[in-house]
Amino acid sequence: MDGARSVKCWCWILQSAYTRTTPLQFSRVAEVYENIEATTKRLEMTDLLADLLKHASNEIIDKIVYLTQGRLGPTFSSVEMGIAEKLAIQVVARATGKDSSAIQASLTETGDIGETAELLLEKKTQSTLFKTLPLAVLDVYDTLEKMAQASGTGSMERKLGLLSGLLSRATPKEGKYLIRIVTGNLRLGIADMTLLDAMAIAYGRGKEARAVLERAYNISSDLGKVARILVDEGLESVSKFQVALGSPIRPMMAERLSTPEEILKKLGGRCMAEFKYDGERVQAHKDGQQVTLFSRRLEHITEQYPDAVELLQRHLKAKKAIVEAECVAVDAATGQLKPFQELMHRRRKYGVKEAMAEHPVSLFVFDVLYADGEDFTLVPYLKRHGKLKEIVPVEERVRTAQSRLVGSVTDLEQFFTRAVEEGCEGIMCKSVNEDSIYQAGARGWLWIKLKREYQSEMIDTVDLTVVGAFHGRGKRAGTYGAFLLAAYNQETDTFETVTKCGTGFTDEDLAKMKEIVDRHKIPHRHPRVESTIEADIWLEPSVVIEVLGAEITLSPVHATAMNAIREGSGLAIRFPRFTGRYRPERSAEDSTTTLEILGMYQNQLRKFNRDKQGTSTMS
Ligand code: ATP
Repeated sequence: MDGARSVKCWCWILQSAYTRTTPLQFSRVAEVYENIEATTKRLEMTDLLADLLKHASNEIIDKIVYLTQGRLGPTFSSVEMGIAEKLAIQVVARATGKDSSAIQASLTETGDIGETAELLLEKKTQSTLFKTLPLAVLDVYDTLEKMAQASGTGSMERKLGLLSGLLSRATPKEGKYLIRIVTGNLRLGIADMTLLDAMAIAYGRGKEARAVLERAYNISSDLGKVARILVDEGLESVSKFQVALGSPIRPMMAERLSTPEEILKKLGGRCMAEFKYDGERVQAHKDGQQVTLFSRRLEHITEQYPDAVELLQRHLKAKKAIVEAECVAVDAATGQLKPFQELMHRRRKYGVKEAMAEHPVSLFVFDVLYADGEDFTLVPYLKRHGKLKEIVPVEERVRTAQSRLVGSVTDLEQFFTRAVEEGCEGIMCKSVNEDSIYQAGARGWLWIKLKREYQSEMIDTVDLTVVGAFHGRGKRAGTYGAFLLAAYNQETDTFETVTKCGTGFTDEDLAKMKEIVDRHKIPHRHPRVESTIEADIWLEPSVVIEVLGAEITLSPVHATAMNAIREGSGLAIRFPRFTGRYRPERSAEDSTTTLEILGMYQNQLRKFNRDKQGTSTMS
C-alpha cells in the first residue's frame, strides 16, 4: 500500500471508531427514519439502515434494532410499551402545555398522533425560543424501558410523567417518532430480512455473513441479540449460536399442492403423511417443571393454556425439550375435535379458568427441535419422528399427530379421507429424505400440505396483505370501499398486488377495517410494495385478511408473478370476497406467497385442460 492510501485507510478506521464510540443521538435515528419513510426504493431503505447501524456503538446496537422494529426487545420478551392513543394525547398535552381538546382537534386533522406531536412541539419551539438538549439513544431507551415496566397503583401517572418528560426534551422530529414508537405506529414496514441485510452490509462479509446471520436469527428469534454478538464478538461467534430453552425457534412452514400425485412426485415417491389438525400452533419449551408456550408469531401464550402446560408437565418424557404441537379445541363431553374458531374463547387474559373448563384443548405433538441437550433442528425428519415417539406417550389429551409412512397415491388418498372424516383440515406430507431438516423460519418443499378446499371448484382461501385502500362512496362514505391486496414474494421480499377487494365486508367490518388500517397509513406507496395501481391511501404492509376468490386470471395491472406466465402480465384473483376472518396472528410475511398463487394458477389450468379433455372424449 502506498503512503497516501495507507494514511487514508487509517483515517477511515479512526473516523469509524470515533463515530461508533461517540454516543449516538436520537435525532440521528429520527432523521434516518424520516429518510426511510420518504424513499420508495427498497435498496435505499436497506442502505440507510446499514448506515445507521454502522454509527451505533456496541452498547446500543441491539437497542437500535429493537426500536426500528418498534419494540423494546424481541417479540417473546414481555416488555410491552402498549401506550393507548388516549394516554398519548395526555402525554403530548403535558409536554407542549396545550390542553387535551387542542391535541384531539389536531389529531382529527392529521390522523396521526406522531404528526400531531411534531406540529405542536414545533409551535412550542417557535413561541418560547425553547432550546432542547440533545437526547442520546441510550437515554431514550432507558426511559422507555422504565415506562414499560411501571405497574401497579400509580403506574399510569408514572408512565405519563416519564414519557412527557422525555417528549418535552425532544425536537419536533424526535417527538414524532417517539410517540409513534410508544403507540405502536412506527409504520416503517421494515422486515426482519431487511434488517439482516443491513447488518450484513454494515458488519458482515456480504453474502456469506447473511446466511450465518439468518440461521442465528431463525433459531433465536432475537435480531437485537444477533446484532450485539456480531459487533461484540464477530461473525464466528454468531455462527456458533445454539438452540436455547426460552428463545423460541422461528417456525418451519409448508408449501401447498393440490393432488397426491404431485406431492409424491415432489417428495421422491415416499413421505410421512400426518393429520393436519385445525387449531393453534404452539411451540412448547420445557425446562424441568417449567413449561413456556409460544404462538406461531412467537408471543408468550403460556397463561392462555394452563391445561396444555399441565399436560406437558405431566406427560412429556424429557427433562428439557422443545416440541411443536397443534393445540385443538375438543368437545368436553365427547372428546371430538372442534374447529379452529372455537379456540377464540381461549384468547383472553381474565376468566381463563372458566374458559378452560368450558372449552378444553388437546395437544397433537408433531415435531421435536431439542431434547435433553441435543439440538434436533438439523437432524432428518425420520430421526426426529423417532425421538418424538420416544418422548410423547399416547394419552387421552396429548399424543403425537396421527401419521403414516406412504409410498403410493392410493395410500395417500385413503389417509387424506380419514383425516378429513376425523375433523382435520387435511394432511401434511413430510419429506423423509436425508436432507429433511427442520427449516426454521422458512416455507419450503420439505413439508407440503393437502387441504380439503383445494379439491373444490373454488380456489382455496388466501391470506393477503392490505397495502392500500380506496375511499368509499354513497353508503360507504367515511369508510373505505375497497382494499388493495398483495401476496408476498419471498425471493424479493416485496408485496405484489393481486386483487382489489370490496366484497364480503359488513358495516361493522368496514368500521373495524378503517380503524385497523388507519394505524398503518403512509404518504406514498411503500418501497416493498409492487403496484401499478394507484390507491387513494397507501399502507405499510402489516394487516393480513383472508379472502376467497372465484378464479385466478392473467392480468396486466396486477404485479403478482409478473412475466412468469406471459410477458407483461401478472396474476389476479377474480371476484374476491372477504371471508370475515381477520388474521391478527399473522405477520405480513406470513401471507400467501407469489409462488403459491402461481401454483394455484397452474393447477387451475391443468384442471381446466383435464375437464376439456373429458368433455371432448365424451362427445
Ligand atoms: P394454514 O393456513 O394452511 O394453516 P399456515 O400458513 O398457518 O397455513 P402452513 O405452514 O402453511 O401454515 O401450514 C402448517 C400449519 O398447520 C402449522 O402452522 C400448524 O399450525 C398446522 N398443523 C396442523 N397439524 C400439523 C402437523 N401434523 N404438522 C405440521 N403442522 C401442522
